[in-house]
Amino acid sequence: MSLVIAIDGPAGAGKGTIARELAARFDCAYLDTGSLYRGLALAALKSSTMLNEAAAIAALKPDLTDAAALRRQDVTEAASIIAVYPEVRAALLAFQRDFAIRPPEGKRGAVLDGRDIGTVVCPDATLKLFLTAAAEVRAERRLKELQTQNQHARYADVFAAIVERDARDSSRAAAPLTPALDAVIVDTSSLSVTEVTARCIALVENLLN
Ligand code: C5P
Repeated sequence: MSLVIAIDGPAGAGKGTIARELAARFDCAYLDTGSLYRGLALAALKSSTMLNEAAAIAALKPDLTDAAALRRQDVTEAASIIAVYPEVRAALLAFQRDFAIRPPEGKRGAVLDGRDIGTVVCPDATLKLFLTAAAEVRAERRLKELQTQNQHARYADVFAAIVERDARDSSRAAAPLTPALDAVIVDTSSLSVTEVTARCIALVENLLN
């Protein structure tokens, strides 16, 4: 049986960290689907395509060559703006589904993280996790991450950006951020990475045994 683990949740909930841990532990390939939206946003910014030109953006190829550029604040914001458009989401769907069905490098399965993996991309996933945390905690984590990269940021700005992105991701009509009905919700607000990892590994092992 091919293993597909879907991880959804808001920005800063720890999806990427847990996805990597699970992928390594269970011999799965990992796809950070947010990077596809970021890559399309970067391609749009580079080609001066207006962010409301949905069809033109959907026709672009995600630019994934510069990892640092993908994490820029303007790219982060543009990604969440273009992610609202059904055309843009549709353009990225086949690649994500294909990755889940036929994971690269002969891996046993795939771990995908994003906002709509359990609801839209992989509705038949083996396990659906929804990681969440209080916005204040997520903003603190993001601030620390920026500081370790020597980037200057104020807590109030980071918090406001997270709240704004949450609202846009949750309120859009196309594939909004919401847990699938059969998702296991894990609130990471007061848990360490080790604790969240252990809990998620136990959930996968339960399913496999
Ligand atoms: O996960 P990450 O923060 O890199 O995602 C950037 C943006 O891409 C999100 O704010 C969201 O708007 C969009 N996204 C999405 N669906 C996904 C992954 C990301 O709409 N599956």
